Amino acid sequence: MRMGRILVSLLALLTVAYLPQGVSGFSKEDIAEPERPKAYRPVKPLVKQISQGNPNVYAIALTFDDGPHEGFTNRLLDTLKANHVVATHFLIGRNVRKHPELARRIALDGHEVANHGMNHIRSDKLTAKQLTWEIARANDAIESATKVRAAFFRPPGGTVDPSLVEVSNALGQTVALWTVSAGDFTSQGNEPTAEQVADRAVAAAKPGAIMILHDPMEPTLEALPNIIRRLRAKGYYFVTMSQLAAMPGAVTTIPKSMPSPKPTTVRPVVPEGPSR
Ligand SMILES: [Zn+2]
Repeated sequence: MRMGRILVSLLALLTVAYLPQGVSGFSKEDIAEPERPKAYRPVKPLVKQISQGNPNVYAIALTFDDGPHEGFTNRLLDTLKANHVVATHFLIGRNVRKHPELARRIALDGHEVANHGMNHIRSDKLTAKQLTWEIARANDAIESATKVRAAFFRPPGGTVDPSLVEVSNALGQTVALWTVSAGDFTSQGNEPTAEQVADRAVAAAKPGAIMILHDPMEPTLEALPNIIRRLRAKGYYFVTMSQLAAMPGAVTTIPKSMPSPKPTTVRPVVPEGPSR
């Protein structure tokens, strides 16, 4: 009787040991291959492209393009920290190579680092192969400085066509455009004042907006505490691009034309007061 029980147990053991592979869902190769750290796996884009978060949620993603810059980015990060705001920084790979310590601080301060190309060349001037190079090299520069793989790519100038989306997605990037602009960027001279930047940003803001701002602009830096305070007073809170994109209801189409980050004319400030 006891012998019989031992035999049954042995048989059960043998059956388990010789179960054909595949029953458990793993092959021998899967188990033998040591698992690679997650950071080195290509990131799958969350969505193909995004131009706005959920338009019913009072969340705003502040985004700063073109950094990092010596003598500026640290002050921008100090201001964001003092105001308890996390943002997304679309970094130029070439600038990251020059100042990896600034890129690292952006990530360490809790902000999201994102890709703005290696050399800031408009994508309509590039072949698909050159565009791949521009995005991939910037990815590498950002990852080696911050240990973070960017999840978003914003094409310089905001020019988007289907092949750009395809190339970006293949490299793991969601194409990130913007919803509203504070018009804080002018190519030469004609710089807006901090008041103008703040007024435009607050007037343009809407629920779920992705707001485009620029890293090396002094008026933007000066306007920032004002923008944050006024938007909070209206009920807005600030999120990163990943947080915005993860909310259901994000706008994953690209508008035919983007709100211009380069206003052609700078309107004079009209002082407030009683009408004459
Ligand atoms: Zn740019």
